[in-house]
Amino acid sequence: MADKVYIEFPARIVIIGFGSIGQGVLPLILRHIGIQPSRMLIIAADDLGKKVADEYGVKFLQQALTRENFRRILDVNVGRGDFVLNVSVDVSSVALVKYCWERGAMYLDTCIEPWAGGYTSPTITPAQRTNYALRESALALRGGTSHTRLPTAIITHGANPGLVSHFVKQAMLNIAADLGVEAAPKKRAEWAKLARQLGVTTIHIAERDTQMSGIPKRSNEFVNTWSIDGFVGEGSQPAELGWGTHERNFPRDGKRHEAGCGASIYLMQPGAATRVRTWTPKAQNFMGFLITHGESISIADYFTVYDSMQPVYRPTVHYAYHPCDAAVLSVWELQGRNWDMQASKRIMMDDIVSGIDELGVLIAGHKKNAYWYGSQLSVEEARSLAPHNQATSLQVTASCLAGMVWAMENPNEGLLEPDELDFRRMLEICSPYLGPVVGEYTDWTPLSDRERLLPEDVDKSDPWQFKNVRVF
Ligand code: NAD
Repeated sequence: MADKVYIEFPARIVIIGFGSIGQGVLPLILRHIGIQPSRMLIIAADDLGKKVADEYGVKFLQQALTRENFRRILDVNVGRGDFVLNVSVDVSSVALVKYCWERGAMYLDTCIEPWAGGYTSPTITPAQRTNYALRESALALRGGTSHTRLPTAIITHGANPGLVSHFVKQAMLNIAADLGVEAAPKKRAEWAKLARQLGVTTIHIAERDTQMSGIPKRSNEFVNTWSIDGFVGEGSQPAELGWGTHERNFPRDGKRHEAGCGASIYLMQPGAATRVRTWTPKAQNFMGFLITHGESISIADYFTVYDSMQPVYRPTVHYAYHPCDAAVLSVWELQGRNWDMQASKRIMMDDIVSGIDELGVLIAGHKKNAYWYGSQLSVEEARSLAPHNQATSLQVTASCLAGMVWAMENPNEGLLEPDELDFRRMLEICSPYLGPVVGEYTDWTPLSDRERLLPEDVDKSDPWQFKNVRVF
């Protein structure tokens, strides 16, 4: 039922950051969580969203949170049983989780943010700039003991990272059913065993955003369908991918981490300069950017099979992102400027005239070659489903809402990643907002149709080797 109130919430909700995601999630929160607007507060560094906050009668505080001031500002607004939703850039997730636990409050974010400058400081190494390092620092909050008595803190629960982890599980079950493999995995090790049994070697988070604005991109302008600061920030980080056990060709610019789970590697170049081949049902084959993302690491880690502490099976997992065409041009221009940000930025919203965000997971290497499972949400449908949203934002905000509802239903579960949540409940809450959710097999591989090109250095023994996926 579209307007169902999932849970009554008697405490307060503080939203930090009120850009495209904050503004898009507010109507969903007020529609599906029983809370009076007077018990909510929005804190953002700029006042661009104030009009939307006013429209819903929610108090708006224009204030940039910093390492120095955040406690003072939050102390009067966050206490036992409250909820902090962090959809900002530049406000540290780790600092906020720790703080929420001290105050007895729940927490959710859609990506692990460092404090401002955390990606770009010249004093840190490429390894320290990775999402691997950010994730390890967040997971370290669990400490050695059980964390389940602490308030629930869900990290990285947007569309991707977030929703796609639930798509992976549903897709695995669909493939198992189609191959006649009996499967009822519950625990992490059982999921990993199933992936291995199915023969999955590669998982792409394959996304093609075709949304177009009626206003063309101007020169010296960065245009995108979501946070430009967020996209440029992650696009400038080293490319990162979960590194599968089937890989035989370690990249010449690849680096492993010295500590931690060891599930991923990074490349010595920015993700927004690294291209990969992938496939979605509507776009068919295309090139995407291998932008670093939390799910590349968490999914690879989750689906690792260990034998005597040694990883014996793990899929390669990475993002393959074709943003809207205006963003591709913007990235091209940004690279030409040696990554010096353009003077103006525009997040496409009401100016969008057409397009869909085709976002899903391409699960490959098994007997049926490859299977894409995901959402094909159009801008028209997104607008009809929720105000202040377009296709990209609604996939994120629906998942954000689902994570908040689950946390409120399960308030003392400590720190959790998307892969550790109840994927069925998440898909149930998100589905009304995702447009067509489809699963489709393909015989496409990263080597398809490449014989007509100049001789290339490819590994013909296995089309799904990362060497064949990467565009040189
Ligand atoms: P945006 O750029 O539109 O808005 C960012 C907001 O953060 C603004 O309101 C800004 O004022 C606020 N902000 C910046 N610095 C702040 C500070 N120091 N203190 C308080 N507020 C501050 O971004 P968006 O598109 O709304 O994205 C928000 C976050 O969600 C980003 O971290 C982005 O990476 C993440 N995101 C995740 C997904 C996903 O699928 N997981 C998708 C899109 C965005």
